[in-house]
Amino acid sequence: MAIAGQFTIEETKHAIPTTMRAAVYRGIDDVRVETVPVPQIGAGELLVRVHTCGICGTDLKKIASGSHSAPRIFGHETSGVVAAVGQGVNQFKPGDRVVVFHHIPCGTCFYCRHKTFAQCETYKKVGCTAGFEPSGGGFAEYVRVMDWIVDHGTVRIPDGVSFEQACFVEPVNTCMKGIETLQLVPGESVLVIGQGPIGIILASLAKRSGARVITSDLYPERLTISNTFGLQNKIDASRVDSVKVVREQTEGRGADASILAVGGSGLIRAAMDAVRPGGRVLLFAQTVRGEATIDPAAICVDEKTLLGSYSASVDLQADSVRFVMNREMELERLISHRFSLASSVEALRLAANPQRDSMKIVIQAGRS
Ligand SMILES: [Zn+2]
Ligand SMILES: [Zn+2]
Repeated sequence: MAIAGQFTIEETKHAIPTTMRAAVYRGIDDVRVETVPVPQIGAGELLVRVHTCGICGTDLKKIASGSHSAPRIFGHETSGVVAAVGQGVNQFKPGDRVVVFHHIPCGTCFYCRHKTFAQCETYKKVGCTAGFEPSGGGFAEYVRVMDWIVDHGTVRIPDGVSFEQACFVEPVNTCMKGIETLQLVPGESVLVIGQGPIGIILASLAKRSGARVITSDLYPERLTISNTFGLQNKIDASRVDSVKVVREQTEGRGADASILAVGGSGLIRAAMDAVRPGGRVLLFAQTVRGEATIDPAAICVDEKTLLGSYSASVDLQADSVRFVMNREMELERLISHRFSLASSVEALRLAANPQRDSMKIVIQAGRS
């Protein structure tokens, strides 16, 4: 007997096919929808039927740069339903709605003790896969969740919270980590450059920490959306000079901090010019190695600090889960496009070439 949104163990067993569709990365800018085996699970592991997987800037970077060997199946902002459990798994059962992290640090190595979790060797080991070299696997119908992720990186989705809302746990965590790095003090002013989905989450979290938030984007459409999240102090960078406006709003000084939520190095200079002497600049989207032009005197003479933040923090996992599951922000409203797995190549192309009206783009394996 089926209960709404759940399957009995027998039905779930029946429902698992031997092959599935997946978006397979085959090389630089080459992702193909292929039929692959449904992953086998071992003791202590889970098989999760994917409902929604968000496309993240880091997926796009890996696909465009060839930084990782092929073939792989990417996708790490994954929510879905437990389809099968391995021997010895007691905390989850088929039918449970879950969101899974794709990597979790060991907690004991040098980097973990120094709270630089993203540099931990265990953290770099990916514990979710849909086949090939483990790489997240969310752009497929099923993912295998390995034992240490089952134990420390799988979170139940409460009733009343959608799969779409839940898939934001990882991106929210990365944004919380960035905000923590910036050490905002209530009342401080912060400019958030870029109001794509990540910029809006960063700006909302900055506001939550008591900062006075100014947002900017070249696309007024995005500012209209960020406005609906309560971010009213906005600069249309297509029409006015953001640095000038920020200075006008801060008695000529510049903001106490700025966050760069737009990729590339073209706006680093603006992000630094927008802060006052002694201010901080957080690079959040500069994931591609290269060189950038920086005024060294802005750091030495003006005493501005350049900071960076990458990936998630296990210390913020509980906080990010609470934020998402308590619906402190209606994150699913950030989703502008939903694609089926069959259309995942198109989804990735759109995500890599953001349009005025595109925000968060997700792939939904169950969608036809
Ligand atoms: Zn991500
Ligand atoms: Zn470690």
